[in-house]
Amino acid sequence: MSLISRAIDTGRLANAYLLTGSNHEDKVELALEIACVLNCLNTESDTKSQNGTFCLISHGPDTVSYCQNCRLISQERHPQAYLQLLSLDPTKPNSKIPVEKARELAFELSKTSPFFRVIWIANAAQDIFHRPAANSLLKTIEEPKNRCIFLLAARSKELVLPTITSRSQEIPLVQKQASMVLSNQGNLPYQSESYQKWSKMPFFQWAKKRHPHSFETARQEALEVSNLLYNAMTKPDDDQDEDIDPLNQLITLELSIIGSSAVGDPYLSQYLSDLLKLSQSLRTRLQRHVSQKASLDNFFIEWLNLRTQVSGILA
Ligand SMILES: [Zn+2]
Repeated sequence: MSLISRAIDTGRLANAYLLTGSNHEDKVELALEIACVLNCLNTESDTKSQNGTFCLISHGPDTVSYCQNCRLISQERHPQAYLQLLSLDPTKPNSKIPVEKARELAFELSKTSPFFRVIWIANAAQDIFHRPAANSLLKTIEEPKNRCIFLLAARSKELVLPTITSRSQEIPLVQKQASMVLSNQGNLPYQSESYQKWSKMPFFQWAKKRHPHSFETARQEALEVSNLLYNAMTKPDDDQDEDIDPLNQLITLELSIIGSSAVGDPYLSQYLSDLLKLSQSLRTRLQRHVSQKASLDNFFIEWLNLRTQVSGILA
């Protein structure tokens, strides 16, 4: 299968992300959301919906109707899908992560599991690690035996051991950028009108298409989204909530589609990682005021390219 050979050609799969930024809550939300998306059991039950659904989209912050996995994860009480590596006393700034805990984690991850395990390390600053604990963690990140994603958090990349940053991909969260789900403060991206609008576009119907259509058609669909995003960015609606970043909505949407279609796919982390990286480089380009339209078009074409590498598995 060409997909597999391509994945081998491209080298190791990314499996660790470093969430940086000053707002701790944003990072926790994002981590919980990723864990929910990867483990949601409600993927097929809602036939009324146009998109593959999952609890975060179907029920918003109303956790009562969540599937068991999402409910437990959102309460941070799902130790099999949402594993935490914490220091002995997380309330104390100098409290270290004991090496025993890092080794226990490595042992736990060596066992097979029906869950896509998300390992959350709320503080990955270097002073929180004794060297043996850091070494054990590094080994686990480098050689994951089963499906898992490491999410490490720190205020900035500079605070983290270089051996860890070199093995993870940074996701810088500027304030409000992770205005993701699980927050009950209204204006959630998946409830907004624009989110609903995005989700109905042909570009986001890809996981349901049984027969792949021509690349040219797919390209047109991608450029259609690019135009809409360009309009959203340059001519913001008066009604639109400025806190909701349209690019973020698109990524969240894609995350929801992947989560409901390909739980357990080892190439998922590669795709997810590449897409996040791509969106970060788009942000950088946009900040540099390079031609916005061209940058957006390029971004969507590259996104499409990434997707064609996983869509064989998702179909
Ligand atoms: Zn669920």
